[in-house]
Order: sequence, then C-alpha cells, then structure tokens
Amino acid sequence: MPKPGPGEALIRALYLSIDPYLRGRMAAPGGSSKSVEPGSIVVGGVAGQVIESNDPRLAQGDYVEGQLGWQEYAVASAKTLRKIDPKLAPLTTALYVLGVPGLAAYFGLLDICRPQPGETVLVSGAAGAVGSLVGQIAKIKRCRVIGIAGTDEKVEYLTSIGFESAFNYKTVPDYEGKLRGLAPNGIDVYFDNVGGPITDAAIARLNQRARVAVCGQISQYASEEPSMGPRWLGQLILKQARVEGFLVRQFSDRFEEAYRQLGNWLRDGKIRYRESVVDGIENAPKAIVGMLEGHNIGKQLVKVA
Ligand code: NAP
Repeated sequence: MPKPGPGEALIRALYLSIDPYLRGRMAAPGGSSKSVEPGSIVVGGVAGQVIESNDPRLAQGDYVEGQLGWQEYAVASAKTLRKIDPKLAPLTTALYVLGVPGLAAYFGLLDICRPQPGETVLVSGAAGAVGSLVGQIAKIKRCRVIGIAGTDEKVEYLTSIGFESAFNYKTVPDYEGKLRGLAPNGIDVYFDNVGGPITDAAIARLNQRARVAVCGQISQYASEEPSMGPRWLGQLILKQARVEGFLVRQFSDRFEEAYRQLGNWLRDGKIRYRESVVDGIENAPKAIVGMLEGHNIGKQLVKVA
C-alpha cells in the first residue's frame, strides 16, 4: 500500500475508464514519451474514494476522479484530482457524461461544428461514449441526426435515444449510397470518431460550408502502415468546407461551463446514457480488447471495487 506524502492523497479505485487512445499508446513502445512501456502502469482515468489525505482540499471518504491508471490503490497530488459529488449524479458519470467523453462531445460539436437548427449532423462511432452524447446534444440543438455504428443492436439503441436514422457499417456495403438515401440534401456537420472509409464517404456527401470535427480515428489506431483512400482535400475547396481536429484539453479553461450544462441536460432527462461494465481489474485487458472490437454500447468501464 503506497503512503501519501505532503499535498497528496491515497485513493482506492472504484471504476476505471477504458479509452481508445490507449491503443495508440501501446502501438510503439519507446516511440513516444507517452507510450505505455512494458512493466509500467497502464494509463487511464479512475473514479475512486479517498482513503487518506495529507491535503486540506480532500478528506477521507471524498469521491474523486483523476488519471490514476490501472491500479487498485494510487497516491496522487490532491491538486490533480477532481472532487465529485455522487449525490448530484452517479459516480461513473465522472468518467462519461460529466467526464472526458462529455467534454469531447460538448466542445467538439458546439465549438468546432457550430450546428444550426434544421441542419443534418452525421456521427460516426455513434453508439460509443462520445458519439451517443454528440447525437443527443445535436438533437437538443434541433438538428437532424444520423448515426453510424457496428451492430444492429447499436442502430436500434441510437433510434431509441432520438437519432432520426442510423445504419450498421458492417452490413451496408456502400456507405456513400446509404448516406445519399438517408440525407438526400447532404451533410452539414460531420463528427468523426473513426476515420477510414466511413469518413471518406461522409466527406463525399458534405454540403457547402459544412464543418467536420475530427475527434478520433479509431479505425486507424492499430494500423502499422498509413491507410490509403481518396484524396479529398479538393472537395473542401468546392464545398468551402472546414475540417478541424481538436483535443479536449484545449478547452480546459471552460470545463466548468461544460460540466454545468451537461449536468443540467442529464438532470432534465435530455441526455440519456448506457454503460458497459466489466467486473474486476484483472479483466481490464479483456475490456479494452472488447471496446476496440465494438462490444460496448456507451462508455466502457471496469468496476474495480
Ligand atoms: P467508444 O466509441 O465508446 O468505443 C470505441 C468504438 O469504436 C467501439 O465501440 C466500436 O464501435 C468503434 N470502432 C472500433 N473499431 C472501429 C473501426 N475500425 N471502424 C469504425 N468504428 C470502430 O469510444 P469513445 O471513448 O467514445 O471514443 C470515441 C472516439 O473519440 C475515439 O476515436 C477516441 O480516440 C476519440 N476521443 C477523442 C478525444 C479528443 O480529445 N479529441 C477525447 C475522447 C475520445 P462499432 O461497433 O460502432 O464499431
């Protein structure tokens, strides 16, 4: 059991967040300062409880969220931990609607894409943690929302939470033709979680002045060679479209605003969520493989204790 030093707290992990970026961190050991090296602690967000604190900001029994990695107990500097009030929302939402996926959906959709009422919004990776929130926020902004996901059950789930339409990219051979049918007037906003051929088709269906937020490229995270596809930059000229990548952390000075708004939508029932929870830290490797294979609906978590 580690001992907390001055300004630090000892945390018992309760839930561990399983995130796609980990695949990239594991891709090339030694390749980047951020790669997860064999023998090191695997990185990950954790929601847990304070066991012992040497800092006035935290007391024994408080709930917190922080980057504590795959471990049952961790010591961390109190200033790196976010205090959570589980009376306001269930603790797991600190890793989901009121955590990084919520922030990615909120800033990626509202700041990068600026959706207008009546516009058509397309979301890839739509039934996952970020995608399912993007679609619901787009509905709150009175857009027409189309989702793309990898199983029929996910397609059903998306329509049950308000998406106008959705399709299973594993059973539809012609994505562009499918999008032409579902959005005959084209796509105004594309929120990209996946990249690859799905994104190639989405770009081909963009409208004039369309906006694309590049949130993730999960279809590429395990590729060892760059994948080839249509060179679509020319289409951006004709459509005067904008493609912009982002990282949640670039909005860090506005996290409070996002937490407040997402919390209100959650409380008012405008945002619904589903979690996929695997029991036991020993099953975290299975959880990440399962998430990369698309077994999760909503956020993939591991219940540690
Ligand atoms: P998630 O969507 O809950 O889980 C990943 C999903 O990706 C799987 O359920 C699977 O669903 C789908 N997938 C896996 N391989 C795929 C492929 N080859 N083609 C298409 N879909 C595939 O994960 P998340 O945490 O919400 O993250 C979504 C994306 O956002 C990721 O790309 C992540 O890296 C990114 N992200 C970015 C930021 C940022 O700051 N920019 C922050 C958080 C997350 P299917 O069954 O549909 O295939």
